[in-house]
Amino acid sequence: MPSPMSKCSPGEWYLVITCEKCGARQPIIHDLTRGESTTVAATYTWRCSECQHSADYESEVIERYLHSTGKAASD
Ligand SMILES: [Zn+2]
Repeated sequence: MPSPMSKCSPGEWYLVITCEKCGARQPIIHDLTRGESTTVAATYTWRCSECQHSADYESEVIERYLHSTGKAASD
């Protein structure tokens, strides 16, 4: 079964939640601001696609993620 992250398009930004139970990272929103939005002004209720664990995630734990084009990342 492919990783949820594999559905991301290269060069596109996503908001990513890391499941607090199983640790699976999964994109929840395609960030059309391309990382320029500085805050995520919401709390998301998210059910993990891997373990079905449902929880509320505060904005500070939601990661802004630029999906790699496959080239080596600088970080
Ligand atoms: Zn999970």
